[in-house]
Amino acid sequence: MILPKFNPLIASSILMLTSSLLASPFDGNQSNLSSRSFPLDTVIWANTNIPVCWESLSTDANLRNEVQNAVTTTWEANSQVDFTGWGQCPTGTFAGIRIGVNDVGPYTERLGNELRGRVSGMILNFTFVSWDPNCITNHGLTSCVRWTAVHEFGHALGFAHEQNRHDTPTTCTLEPQGTMGNIIFTDWDNNSVMNYCNPNWNGNGNLSNIDILTVQTYYGNIPRYTSPSKLLEIPVVIVSGVSYTATLDDFDGDNAFSLRTFNRTGNRSSQPARYAGTTLTLLMLKVLDLRNHVESLYSATMNFNGSTFTVSSATQLQPTPITFSLVSH
Ligand SMILES: [Zn+2]
Repeated sequence: MILPKFNPLIASSILMLTSSLLASPFDGNQSNLSSRSFPLDTVIWANTNIPVCWESLSTDANLRNEVQNAVTTTWEANSQVDFTGWGQCPTGTFAGIRIGVNDVGPYTERLGNELRGRVSGMILNFTFVSWDPNCITNHGLTSCVRWTAVHEFGHALGFAHEQNRHDTPTTCTLEPQGTMGNIIFTDWDNNSVMNYCNPNWNGNGNLSNIDILTVQTYYGNIPRYTSPSKLLEIPVVIVSGVSYTATLDDFDGDNAFSLRTFNRTGNRSSQPARYAGTTLTLLMLKVLDLRNHVESLYSATMNFNGSTFTVSSATQLQPTPITFSLVSH
């Protein structure tokens, strides 16, 4: 297995070009964009280890375990995110999510990392007596607790209500509610746990396929391609069972990507790239725009000819499956 050698001189000029591109002013209409919805990518947690604590441990321990398990088997199972701790909140500052329990409609005070340290930032319901007593009749207390927890932790990850989106179809007539997102890179998703119009309440606690793609996009440590700089960053590529991190670029615009960095890594990815034979397989690849927002998701394969990589196939996973080639971007 031969991979091209790292060229530090070219790499440093790439980095300078990239940072100057990213720093260039954006001429779009920000206020218009922010009136749209779904993920709010300004509040995505930078670290995938997110501390959580309970404001009182006098609440039902079994239901607290159900909440933790619901989160573990959904958002955590499909990404690199790890909600840690789950003990009694300290009296002082806390750099994570503080969960209170009250018999009201469950909610979060903010989206994403704006919950950090906020007292009663998330409120869950463990009784469903005053609020939505029919839930216990229809689903049982455990499901009521688990399903609402999955939804609220979606907010905690930075995901707004799906029905808030400007492209919500007229068949979904429920009003927008709560904080708006700012990014739309998936098809509108009737089956999202974040969608009030989902025929199953909170998706019955089951992430939709698009929920999974979304959490992997922001918390999966997956490959990213920045179109203005033509830089492809791969957090984890597995070569003969060993994990590496790599960056490739098409800086000169000849549709052939050169390998610029290639190092062993202990990092993990929910969708690691794989290199075998002369083929580099990217199961998931997020494409970022000039402002570093996710535009779309692809899977792609690249072929190595001994000196450079070229895209041999690419499939758009979201928002709409169409034939696509990175080189035409
Ligand atoms: Zn909500």
